[in-house]
Amino acid sequence: MAPTDDAKSPVRMEDLVALCARRGFIFQSSEIYGGINGFWDYGPLGVELKNNVKAFWWQRMVRGRDDVEGVDSSIICHPRTWEASGHVEHFSDPMVDCRTCKKRFRADQLDDRQCSRPDDCDFTEAKQFNLMLRTFIGASEDAASTAYLRPETCQPLFVDFKRVREAARQKLPFGLAQIGKAFRNEINPRNFIFRSREFEQMELEYFVHPSQREQWFEYWFEERQRWHRDLGFGDDALRTRAHEPDELAHYANAASDVEFLFPFGWQEIEGIHDRGDWDLSRHSEFSGKDLSMTDEETKEKFMPMVIETSVGVERTTLAILCNALREEELENGETRTVMHIPAFLAPIQVAVLPLSKKLGESARRLAEDLRRRFPAFYDEAGNIGRRYRRQDECGTPFCVTWDFDSEEDGQVTVRERDSMTQERISAEALAGWLFERLGMPA
Ligand code: ATP
Repeated sequence: MAPTDDAKSPVRMEDLVALCARRGFIFQSSEIYGGINGFWDYGPLGVELKNNVKAFWWQRMVRGRDDVEGVDSSIICHPRTWEASGHVEHFSDPMVDCRTCKKRFRADQLDDRQCSRPDDCDFTEAKQFNLMLRTFIGASEDAASTAYLRPETCQPLFVDFKRVREAARQKLPFGLAQIGKAFRNEINPRNFIFRSREFEQMELEYFVHPSQREQWFEYWFEERQRWHRDLGFGDDALRTRAHEPDELAHYANAASDVEFLFPFGWQEIEGIHDRGDWDLSRHSEFSGKDLSMTDEETKEKFMPMVIETSVGVERTTLAILCNALREEELENGETRTVMHIPAFLAPIQVAVLPLSKKLGESARRLAEDLRRRFPAFYDEAGNIGRRYRRQDECGTPFCVTWDFDSEEDGQVTVRERDSMTQERISAEALAGWLFERLGMPA
């Protein structure tokens, strides 16, 4: 059944935020100074999860294809870049100030405002607030030395288009891809990491002949949904939304969002856009460098068209966490908190747990052996049930128990997180057994 607007996520945001802090996935930046709004730090589990998301995207979008090249551009670009892209002039949200509580709000999100004195609210007229974060380059702080932290990762890909195409000897259709930080001075950062001021994007700009823009838009629209489904998102939590004609940028032919059902409702995690030839034309105009190509058959010049896929690392990570977190009733009446993170993305893929500290020497040897191939964790403290629960909360798909029999027969017990079933297998065969179960989807 198609998901509806009033569908509800089974997760409570406060439970997720608490677990993320408790287990060291994600917590406020500068916590001991009271935090800084819109900025987040990733702890040992969070950084592994985020890196696995990025590795999966890179494998699917860059390494696994011969028509896409990777790029890693600087965060600060020539300021003309942002004039050409339209960001200096247009990248703004409407903002109002409340004269009573002295807080600032996005004028288009006033329904959810957090004014501390809602009854006496007194708003100023809305004015436009540019979201780019500014800095100065070099010793002087004047207009000539003003630069911006990039608000999206795609513009440098257009700027680098000609250089990389020639260096990599690519012909149309082909793409440039990048994963990197982006910064937006959001008026109201909120919903945990969903709307942050510093975040990462994974973007592909795919250049095509103008006659092929529709077919490539369709291709990437399908391909990107396949990626999200491979992250474990089912039809009840994932949907797409095509932009209405009046939502489209003036240069865009089509745009669709991929939306996820968060505890705070359906929200965009990815945008797939047909950007036409707007970006390359503007950078040609502003730089004075011709970025057009020549049709090999007709010898006519043309500007390639661009299909873009743009997904946020934080929003994807948050969606994975929301999709994974469940409270489950056990047969003995207890409940367990478990993170059903897909095994290939799990921050710890295997935990080695000796049944007794006396077995530590052999169990440690096994953990060290596994660690050369998998993110492995060793824990000998506390009773085994508690150690299983801890790994359930961390999302570890396999726990391996080394017991007194293991010393004799070289067999270990593997406990699977989701089903909690246990299987006895040979320690020697363990690495191969895990290898078969922990790979990325092709
Ligand atoms: P929104 O309308 O929610 O502000 P957007 O349409 O401005 O998002 P895009 O400019 O299309 O977003 O950026 C592409 C992707 O980058 C988004 O789908 C999202 O995953 C991510 N992204 C954008 N802004 C933020 C942010 N402030 N914090 C975290 N991720 C973001």
